[in-house]
Amino acid sequence: MTLYRDSAVVLRTWKLGESDRIVSMLGENSGKIRAVVKGVRKTKSRFGSRLEPLSLVSLLCWKGRELDVVSQAETIELFRETREDLDRLYKANVILEATEQVAQDGYPDPELFRLVVRVLRVLESDNPQMLLGSFIWKLLSLQGYRPQMTVCVVCGSGSSRAGFDFAAGGMLCDEHSGGKRSSPEALDVISRSLDGQLAQVLRIENSPVVSETEVLALQALEVVLERSLRSVRSSIIRH
Ligand SMILES: [Zn+2]
Repeated sequence: MTLYRDSAVVLRTWKLGESDRIVSMLGENSGKIRAVVKGVRKTKSRFGSRLEPLSLVSLLCWKGRELDVVSQAETIELFRETREDLDRLYKANVILEATEQVAQDGYPDPELFRLVVRVLRVLESDNPQMLLGSFIWKLLSLQGYRPQMTVCVVCGSGSSRAGFDFAAGGMLCDEHSGGKRSSPEALDVISRSLDGQLAQVLRIENSPVVSETEVLALQALEVVLERSLRSVRSSIIRH
């Protein structure tokens, strides 16, 4: 077996047998990693609580055929403010679960890693309201989901931005929006998030656009995953 080093965000953990755990992580250079942590549930584990979800860690792992094995793990960031604040923790759980579900196994994606770390740091320091919605749109964009945002997906008209239907491919004009009405402001935020203009988008506050963008993002994620996220409050997405 070969040994490798990486920085990684812990996305999710599962119990394995009496004292071990399987940890799913997003590595900077390795993409999604699934690794066994031996003895982690014993009181005197040398890993302590370092490999809990949300932690950013420096890893030394043995490469395995199906599961890797963690040899060493050092904490880089714990995101303490986020752990102690229910609103931040909720958003972090959605970010981690969305990333775990969307990221592909064994496919290095340093850009995705940088996005996730950046968003978790912004959540820890500022917790801007638009964070979750804009993150999910950027996440979908990085995975190749780029809805049409300039012309109506039914008729190709660019004259009006009246609605949005992710499953149909994107924007809808006044005539074709039917029951899928959306505000032009929310569609503008989605466009800018897809293009990676997160810094500007994150300045938007206290606006109905915040929740509209978030609901559309969570609905789009449901279409991609063909199910809803466990961590999302079920009352949020109204179809
Ligand atoms: Zn149309």
